[in-house]
Amino acid sequence: MQPTDILKQYFGYSSFRPGQEEVIKTLLARRDCLAIMPTGAGKSLCFQIPGLMLPGITLIISPLISLMKDQVDTLVNQEIPAVYINSQCTWDELRQRFSEIRAGRVKLVYISPERLQNEFFTSFMQTQPISLVVIDEAHCVSQWGHDFRPSYCAISAWVEALPRRPVVAAFTATATEKVKKDMQQLLGLREERVFVGGFDRPNLYFRVVRDTDRTRFILAYLASHREDSGIIYAATRKEVDRLYTEIRHQGFSVGRYHAGMSDEARKKEQERFTYDKIQVIVATNAFGMGIDKSNVRYIIHYQMPKNIESYYQEAGRAGRDGGPGECILLFSRQDIMIQKYLIEHSVHTVEQQQREQDMLNRMVGYCETRGCLRQYILSYFGERPEWTACGKCGNCDQEVVEEDQTNIVRPICAC
Ligand code: ADP
Ligand code: MG
Repeated sequence: MQPTDILKQYFGYSSFRPGQEEVIKTLLARRDCLAIMPTGAGKSLCFQIPGLMLPGITLIISPLISLMKDQVDTLVNQEIPAVYINSQCTWDELRQRFSEIRAGRVKLVYISPERLQNEFFTSFMQTQPISLVVIDEAHCVSQWGHDFRPSYCAISAWVEALPRRPVVAAFTATATEKVKKDMQQLLGLREERVFVGGFDRPNLYFRVVRDTDRTRFILAYLASHREDSGIIYAATRKEVDRLYTEIRHQGFSVGRYHAGMSDEARKKEQERFTYDKIQVIVATNAFGMGIDKSNVRYIIHYQMPKNIESYYQEAGRAGRDGGPGECILLFSRQDIMIQKYLIEHSVHTVEQQQREQDMLNRMVGYCETRGCLRQYILSYFGERPEWTACGKCGNCDQEVVEEDQTNIVRPICAC
């Protein structure tokens, strides 16, 4: 199983958030990492998924006993074999959990840092196949952080005393330089990859265009961006084929990509795009994995995608070289009905349907907001931008609104 399959099957989510997949891959490649990602970014999945995929057990050191129970209960509900061991467990519970671990029936073991000072626990763990040690809220190791915990300082020596050194991964939302240095030094990370998940992409310009004639919009846009490379995402294969034909008919250099094409044809189209043999590619969301083209200047969504995660991931393919990128979403309220239909017909459990519906509502919120679009996305990912005026989205930037009369947005930006 791949990480995306586990994401779907166990957690009921359809796409990764920015940064998650990279951290997961690093841990699966058995390399230490330090991930600094904002609160709400979804750090837990970054270690839970490798924890399920790696052999043996993953030990998760977490400072708050009160949260541990909730987290583990949620996991167990999702049929993930997890337990916690802390001072609130009764003798019976402890005995039962240790025997389950010994029998290889547990993948994720949550503990408080103080547990590492317990001799029985330590000698027991020395006999177990530990693949990964996760240090959640890793800033607790630093006196420069906001909630220093002396017991975090003992983690490194404990890990080194294991017969086989596991991979070590530290997670936090605290990003000051002093804390970062402390985490790198005091947690005993080795040749770690560091991820800093600030989600802002300052070189991207975001814009929603509502109730416009979409095909006309695209043809006009292409006509004024003949030199640029771009991707147009459409929801269905049929739509991709139709748009592709239309764009080609108008004399643009265009390709297409969807799962209905043969492997060979897809590979060829992807190469033509990557090596600038064609300017534009019309694609379904099947086009994504493995594209590494840095000079994509615009991403146009012909319809609203199902959630902000997917949208930001796809839109984020613009401007990877740091140059300007424009991310335009063409929206009409019909898109909501289509996405609702898809949720109702593709998602099985009631809970999952509800979750996808909530995510869809946030996506609709993006399409309909009169506020700053970048702020909307960043706050969705739990980030609070330092700037107050983005000036780089269709809602903040009055000029665009005035020049484009088909766009009924009034420029009232929250920022
Ligand atoms: P953090 O520890 O970074 O503050 P959490 O791991 O607690 O964040 O996740 C925050 C919320 O985001 C949780 O409700 C989690 O289920 C949700 N979440 C995480 N990853 C995804 C994803 N890929 N798609 C949708 N929701 C996600
Ligand atoms: Mg967390």
